[in-house]
Amino acid sequence: MGKIIAIANQKGGVGKTTTAMNLAASLAVLEYKTLVIDADPQANTTSGLGQDPKSISTSIYECMVDGIPVEEIIIHTEIEYLDLVPSHIDLVGAEVEMINMENREEKMKEVISGLREKYDFIIIDCSPSLGLITINALTAANSVIIPVQCEYFALEGLGKLLNTIKIIQTRLNPDLEIEGILLTMYDVRLRLSNQVVEEVRLHFKNMVFETIIPRNVRLGEAPSFGLPAIAFDAEGKGSIAYLNLANEIAEKNGLKKPEQAHG
Ligand code: ADP
Ligand code: MG
Repeated sequence: MGKIIAIANQKGGVGKTTTAMNLAASLAVLEYKTLVIDADPQANTTSGLGQDPKSISTSIYECMVDGIPVEEIIIHTEIEYLDLVPSHIDLVGAEVEMINMENREEKMKEVISGLREKYDFIIIDCSPSLGLITINALTAANSVIIPVQCEYFALEGLGKLLNTIKIIQTRLNPDLEIEGILLTMYDVRLRLSNQVVEEVRLHFKNMVFETIIPRNVRLGEAPSFGLPAIAFDAEGKGSIAYLNLANEIAEKNGLKKPEQAHG
């Protein structure tokens, strides 16, 4: 049974989408069957993986609201072992449509739980909000990765997010775990970056991934190529960091493949 991991932080610009794309691609490169679900109406993961959101008419939302089987909308990406459930932009009304639905927090879980048999990892890229769609993602997930930018105000909003996770654990998804807090956009030259790393590690101890994602130009450029960085800059610092993260997660979950144990 595959593991469902949501990437969440209601703060925008912290690296959720970059992490969803590049972690998923790295897991795929390690030959884990991986699916990314774009659960953000901004559809950045969708375009970042080479799909034009304007040409997409069906997303995870239509599966949740109209009962369309999710299998029908899965796209195989250019990367072997990596599939995508795309998003599109006209979704502002989706949360409103769901408001009167029964079990409205559990729609995504109903839609995707069957996919766990087909994939080793399912990565959900959440929008910068703690709205109903994100709550659905956290209810469907086995665990959550929280990207935290190595910047001023890094910890802002984190308390609210952790509190939301606690409420979801109590009411909707008792098995939800925190896979880890991921430090992103780290700049070794900046004292501030180093201070944030220290502070986050001090506060959250072993909840923090060992892997730190550096600020890296190629990671920032990747979306304009419609490819994850590993597909065009495999030796780059950003790609290697996400590959290390993929290995760290595989190892943590007892899934590390023997032939890759030395890499
Ligand atoms: P979110 O999904 O949380 O809003 P993104 O992943 O879209 O955040 O990142 C915000 C911006 O920062 C994007 O332009 C992205 O390309 C850039 N970015 C993210 N991570 C890095 C990184 N490690 N190095 C350089 N640029 C990054
Ligand atoms: Mg995003």
